[in-house]
Amino acid sequence: MSHPTHLLGFPRVGAKRELKTLLENHWQGELDEASLLQGAKELRQKHWLLQKGAGVELSPVGDFSLYDHVLDAQLLVGAAPPRFGFDAATLTTAQYFELARGNAAQPALEMTKWFDTNYHYLVPEWRADTAFAAQPERLLSQIREARALGVAAKPALLGPLSLLWLGKAKGEPFDKLSLLPGLVAAYRELLAALRAAGAEWAQIDEPILALDLEPEWQDAFAPAYAQLSPSAPKLLLATYFGDVSAHAALLKSLPVAGLHLDLIRAPEQISAFLPDYPADKVLSAGIIDGRNIWRADLSALLARLRPLAETLGNRLWLAPSCSLLHSPFDAAAETALDPELKTWLAFAVQKLNELKTLKRGLEEGRAAVSDELAGSDFARSQRQTSPRIHNPAVAERLAALPANADRRASAYPVRAKRQQAWLKLPPLPTTTIGSFPQTPAIRASRAAFKKGELSAADYRQAMEQEIELAIRRQEVLGLDVLVHGEAERNDMVEYFGEQLTGFAFTAGGWVQSYGSRCVKPPIIFGDVGRPAPMTVDWARYAQSLTAKPVKGMLTGPVTILQWSFVRDDLPRSAVCRQIALALNDEVRDLEAAGIRVIQIDEPAIREGLPLKRADREGYLAWAGEAFRLSSRGVDDATQIHTHMCYSEFGDILPAIAALDADVITIETSRSDMELLTDFGRFRYPNAIGPGVYDIHSPRVPSASEIRTLLDKALKVIPAERLWVNPDCGLKTRGWPEVDAALAAMVQVSLELREQLAQTA
Ligand code: GLN
Ligand code: ZN
Repeated sequence: MSHPTHLLGFPRVGAKRELKTLLENHWQGELDEASLLQGAKELRQKHWLLQKGAGVELSPVGDFSLYDHVLDAQLLVGAAPPRFGFDAATLTTAQYFELARGNAAQPALEMTKWFDTNYHYLVPEWRADTAFAAQPERLLSQIREARALGVAAKPALLGPLSLLWLGKAKGEPFDKLSLLPGLVAAYRELLAALRAAGAEWAQIDEPILALDLEPEWQDAFAPAYAQLSPSAPKLLLATYFGDVSAHAALLKSLPVAGLHLDLIRAPEQISAFLPDYPADKVLSAGIIDGRNIWRADLSALLARLRPLAETLGNRLWLAPSCSLLHSPFDAAAETALDPELKTWLAFAVQKLNELKTLKRGLEEGRAAVSDELAGSDFARSQRQTSPRIHNPAVAERLAALPANADRRASAYPVRAKRQQAWLKLPPLPTTTIGSFPQTPAIRASRAAFKKGELSAADYRQAMEQEIELAIRRQEVLGLDVLVHGEAERNDMVEYFGEQLTGFAFTAGGWVQSYGSRCVKPPIIFGDVGRPAPMTVDWARYAQSLTAKPVKGMLTGPVTILQWSFVRDDLPRSAVCRQIALALNDEVRDLEAAGIRVIQIDEPAIREGLPLKRADREGYLAWAGEAFRLSSRGVDDATQIHTHMCYSEFGDILPAIAALDADVITIETSRSDMELLTDFGRFRYPNAIGPGVYDIHSPRVPSASEIRTLLDKALKVIPAERLWVNPDCGLKTRGWPEVDAALAAMVQVSLELREQLAQTA
């Protein structure tokens, strides 16, 4: 019996983010194009050889990208957006980067999140007259590269239906599916070229199958694949990120030679495929988690795979659940990490070894891999009992929460009165979202402190100076609710994670976010607690400098969860509740220290939304509960703010209202205040501050622009519940622009107040 192993994709940035360095040096003009391409080629080759060395039998080719694999898929079918005026057949590397990053005449392709990951892809632009033509050369040359190394190459490409679905219709409205025949013809040619080049297999990804797919899109699969398959290599149709059992009958009947299923996200879906799995197809079992960093339970996996192997024989293939693009590179490189914790981790390199062990265990029996199984069992049992992870007090505290623990004492109208009684804010109060410019001086102090070159006392003094500066500027500007400016924070999740128990930070656990950008998510490995106050001293100091109210600033539980790798031995909802209670300790301490306006940021709440509609209500219920728990027990007179940005919020307004924050500040630049129409129609009950200053641009908005936006806002939000603020934090901006923009903002608010007073 033999069970081939393969990957859907590999982390292309490299063990040391080599691709980032190559790209950024090239963009800065320090590395010429030939050297960039050579560097990229060497990186690909290194990754193939690494896979080969680890026993991977079929390596993906085409998963590597200089910027984005969805952009690459558009180019493989010759569909560069015409607004750039480029010819896909002769596209240069420079033009490729212009599509990805924009040029003087054209903004870049829009970027959006790849399903429920933190990877951003470049959104294809479709027009009614978009024409397609296969451009297989890039893929063919990479197949040659892989073969020259003796690597068994499996070209991997995004499938036609997913590519089309993920794009946006531009220009005259039309049905995107009308482009399918032309697109399928180009894919047919592309796949025929791969076959002619000797590719035995091609992997074709159709991740949209994990969504609630519209019936007309489901119906389009059979005819499209009937067109593709006759001249194609054997097709392995890959699904991931969720359950596709709703499409089991369709998938089993497609003329493809194999299916890949994500059995980590949706283990139970196997039963919809198995009893009568077609004899002409292989089944690739995605059984190593491509989205998380925990070592697999190999014994349990072998037991699960055994019956599959008996039913399918050689037709059972083994793979990670999805592309390893979403996994950091190598846990062995984490020399500074706690050694016990390190044995619990598997990054991409470790996952390859796990795959190999599973293969041998299935083919040769458990005895052949007894050492590996013992290692995996040991790590697992340690994780189950380690005092590093389990803090009974946390579980007890959660269990002891009374019913309705997450409810404020009084309803919003009552609270609003009590808050206004001491805040005495003018109409249309002005505030900011939290951070002020992170100047080179601030970064230098923080870096020096981290390296031990600056004493704690000197660091504190430097930060206090920054806080004082921020407070004085806000007073001069005449803002109403002030912030301390977040100078001491490197990152809004890391800052808190470093002070909470149950969190660990890697040195090199980077994951690509887009292009050359990577993020390094914290690892939540154990029960979360807050040993000591995290923000109170800074907030108290800021408040001591001014008679105006200073807003305390926290990152919310859902956002901390969403931007971390989360332990897999508890439901995410339980981990989120733990974070909420830890934050609640902070909220109470802030309140006791006299900070009675507190903002709990939740910019990532929308991102956590499950891909399938049926799962959304459940998620929104626990996410909302966690948010409310974090401010549990505060006085009615304490004003709780939240903040959200850069997501589509229109469809989760009831859930946002259910957070019951007294004030929400929300980014609106993306939709030119469209969002407010939604808020107005929905009759959002509490106070709202729509962003009037697009902080992503160095441009300073004029008073008249801000005025126009606020006039629009006043049409749908009553003046007594309207706040005035920027879209988001200002840490990436410079002080001169910030000063000018906030001055304009305050000026408009003053004008409107006067006008309101006259009409009253
Ligand atoms: N308080 C944070 C800041 O101002 C919020 C950042 C965010 O929403 N991403 O920087
Ligand atoms: Zn924001």
